[in-house]
Amino acid sequence: MAKVKLTDLMKEKQLLSFELFPPKTDKGMENLPGTIEKLCEFKPEYISCTYGAGGGNVGRNREVCQEIIKAGTVPVTHFTVIKNTKEGIKQQLEQYLAEGVDHMLALRGDIPLGETTTCGDFDYATDLVAFTRKEFGDKFEIAVAGSPEGHIACRSLDADIAVLKMKQDNGADYIMTQLCWDMEQFKVWLDKIRTAGITMPVDVGIMPILDQAATINMALSRNGCVMERELARLISKYWLFPNPFAAKDAEGKPFDMFYEQKVKDFKEAGIEYTIKQIDAYRALGVDGIHLYALNKWQDVSRIIKESGMRTLI
Ligand code: FAD
Repeated sequence: MAKVKLTDLMKEKQLLSFELFPPKTDKGMENLPGTIEKLCEFKPEYISCTYGAGGGNVGRNREVCQEIIKAGTVPVTHFTVIKNTKEGIKQQLEQYLAEGVDHMLALRGDIPLGETTTCGDFDYATDLVAFTRKEFGDKFEIAVAGSPEGHIACRSLDADIAVLKMKQDNGADYIMTQLCWDMEQFKVWLDKIRTAGITMPVDVGIMPILDQAATINMALSRNGCVMERELARLISKYWLFPNPFAAKDAEGKPFDMFYEQKVKDFKEAGIEYTIKQIDAYRALGVDGIHLYALNKWQDVSRIIKESGMRTLI
């Protein structure tokens, strides 16, 4: 059995956790222990690390997990079936266990560009959950993704919820959600999953709003997330002309004469927006707040301190 059961902790309190990604450069990797140490000052119950689809960054994912262990908290590795065979999955999961990583977020992963399948032995996260339970019993605590607005490729929200129920039936322990800025939709989804017999705890994924392009990209490049009015208003108010994706010329000079001020003001407004969102989720009584830390400890620390997440019960 996993040494620490996060789902047991969730019965006692609302968890705080972070998500990191494996840095792409050696320099980024060198800075990572410092980032993890700073995040650990808030005593998160766990830190998760993303797993690059198609096998990219997997080696570094394991290094990041080791840094998380060294810093004294629980690592949760994300894991996808993309381009992975059954045998390959088994070997990798054995390796994680041997290295003291016994928590995973079992995902399908995004279909590689230009392909129509996972290019691996499994089609869905449900298969990975069933396989892990069959091969490893209860050695892993398993989280699965849930999409309050429905996964972008699902036939309907109800069909997606049926998939989530299948993940539970196959042995998943708890849900980590896709970001959702639409609180009314989140409440509808929460009611619906409970009605469908899904009893797994819900750990809510929250992406700090710090940068216009990153926010729009996260919402629309893959996930089809609704941007509620207040967030859309902030993006419009501080819009970087001609657009946030091409805000600078070839020499790196911004086109918008108010560029610096707008970037600064947007971040301030975004942090305030993020804190309000955390308040709203906490008030709903969700089982955990999972902050996509984006490897940026300064901004994330500010959000945690100002939200009172570790001091305001
Ligand atoms: P699934 O649950 O398998 O669902 C995929 C689609 O297929 C859905 O539309 C679903 O309704 C449908 N479906 C599922 N099972 C069945 C079935 N049995 N029969 C018919 N239809 C079915 N991606 C990465 O590559 N690396 C990461 O580290 C990563 N981290 C993430 C962290 C979080 C918290 C979240 C929410 C997502 C993350 N992703 C990551 C993205 C994720 O891989 C994508 O959203 C991917 O497109 C779907 O993964 P899934 O596990 O939700 O897939």
